[in-house]
Amino acid sequence: MQCPFCGTEMEQGFIYGRRDCGLLWLPLGEKMPYMITKNAIKARNGLLLGERPFPENTKLEFFICRKCNAGLSKF
Ligand SMILES: [Zn+2]
Repeated sequence: MQCPFCGTEMEQGFIYGRRDCGLLWLPLGEKMPYMITKNAIKARNGLLLGERPFPENTKLEFFICRKCNAGLSKF
């Protein structure tokens, strides 16, 4: 999928909403680290999007563009 804003190929992954650590994004194929820390997420090339606890545990397919920081849900 191409970024609608800058045309760069977007990275496929998932956004996870977590009761314990907030909102984060991980690339396709990466598993949630056992200990969710900034470094663990960084090591998986993921992004920490918010540290406030999310109301429920959710997982959503989500594409990101690192060039312009755009994000797109597939739906
Ligand atoms: Zn873009």
